[in-house]
Amino acid sequence: MPTVTATFRFYEELNDFLARPLRGRAFGCACARDATTKHMIEALGVPHTEVELILVNGESVGFDRVLADGDRVSVYPKFEALDISPLLRVRERPLRTIRLIADAHLGGLAQLLRLAGFDTLYDNHFADDEIEALASSENRIVLTRDRELLKRRTITHGCYVRALKPQVQLREVIDRLDLAGSVHAFRLCLSCNAPLRRIDKTQAVGRAPEGVLERHSQFVTCDVCRRVFWEGSHWQRMRTLIDSLVPEQATQLDQVDQVDQVIKTSKPS
Ligand SMILES: [Zn+2]
Repeated sequence: MPTVTATFRFYEELNDFLARPLRGRAFGCACARDATTKHMIEALGVPHTEVELILVNGESVGFDRVLADGDRVSVYPKFEALDISPLLRVRERPLRTIRLIADAHLGGLAQLLRLAGFDTLYDNHFADDEIEALASSENRIVLTRDRELLKRRTITHGCYVRALKPQVQLREVIDRLDLAGSVHAFRLCLSCNAPLRRIDKTQAVGRAPEGVLERHSQFVTCDVCRRVFWEGSHWQRMRTLIDSLVPEQATQLDQVDQVDQVIKTSKPS
C-alpha cells in the first residue's frame, strides 16, 4: 500500500507548538492511512482548539478531511485582521454566550475574568475529566496552559493561555476571544462566580465594619458567600486595571449602573 505523505505548513503562533525544526517552514510528514487533518495536526503537537482555518491544496476544509498523498496542508490560527470570510472556518460559529472554565493553575486569571464580568468556573481541585465534562455540558470555553487537555475530543472551544502573569493572561484571553466589547466590570463575585446584587445600607449593617458603613452608601452582596462589597481603595485598583484593558470602554464604564461601581472585599485587608 502506498504511503501517504502530506506537506504541512503552520502559521504564526501555531509554530510554538511544533518541534523546533518544523517551525516556520513547510515540511513533509508521513500520515497514517485514513488520517484526518485533525489527527495529524494534533499528532504534530497543535491542539485543535487553537486552529481557525485549514487549507488543503488551497481549499478550506474541516477537521475531518482525510489526507491523500501529496496534499499540501496550511494551518492557521485565529486571524487578527485578514478577512477570511469567503473561507470556511473549522468551527461553524462562536458560542453565543461566553462562558469559561479555567484549569487548576489559572486561579488568578479566573478571578480577573469574573471581575471583568465573565462567567468563569474555577476550582483548584478540578480534574481534567471534570473540566472536560463541564465544558461540554455547559458549553464553556476551556482556558489552560495544558495543550494535552485541549486535544480532548469533546472540547470544541478552548484557548491555550501563553502568558504567565494573570494580568497579562487576562489581556491575552480578552484579545483572543474578542471580549473587549463585552466587559461588564463588577457584576460577578470574585470568589463564587455568582451575580452581585445591590443592597440597602441597612442590610449591610453587621456585615461590614462600622467605619465603612459611615463612609460608604452603596453596597452589593453575593447571595452565595454572603460577602458584602463596597467601593474602596481595592476597588480603585481593580477599576484602573479594567480600564487599562479596554480604554475605549472607559466612558461606557463610567455610565454603568451604580451597582457596578461598588466593590470592596468585606474581608479585613
Ligand atoms: Zn460570593
